[in-house]
Amino acid sequence: MAAQYFFCIQCHKKVPTHQKLFDTLYDFSKMAPEECPACGGTRELHTTLDFQLGAGDGDFKVVSALLPDKLESWLGEESEEVTFYPFLVVLQRAGDSKQFCWMPYWHVTGKEARYGQHAVCLDQSQFESLTAQAQQKDIRESVLEPA
Ligand SMILES: [Zn+2]
Repeated sequence: MAAQYFFCIQCHKKVPTHQKLFDTLYDFSKMAPEECPACGGTRELHTTLDFQLGAGDGDFKVVSALLPDKLESWLGEESEEVTFYPFLVVLQRAGDSKQFCWMPYWHVTGKEARYGQHAVCLDQSQFESLTAQAQQKDIRESVLEPA
């Protein structure tokens, strides 16, 4: 699946995050990576993804990792609380300015984060087209059905 590492933009040192993808993305959504221990340079988060489709595979810089302000939780099996973490991750392919919107998600129960398969990865323009349409629909509906 995915492998993550920090990349120093100054000395180009690569260091694996030694964390699961969920923890890496969660931390990155909260704060920028620590500076390079070798030279003090700024570090980027990179991930290697294999979508098994050829075109989208390779090494990506993680531009941003976002979570909704409010996460949804409910009681699952054996009355354990389940929390849904739908990420929106903006990826940029190394050596390319093209950006992608990747939406991996996890269900977290206790300390276990279960990865949801079939995460969507869209070209950024496709993603923007969808969100723009959704926003327009919101506007239309609020005009048709005033609260
Ligand atoms: Zn460095």
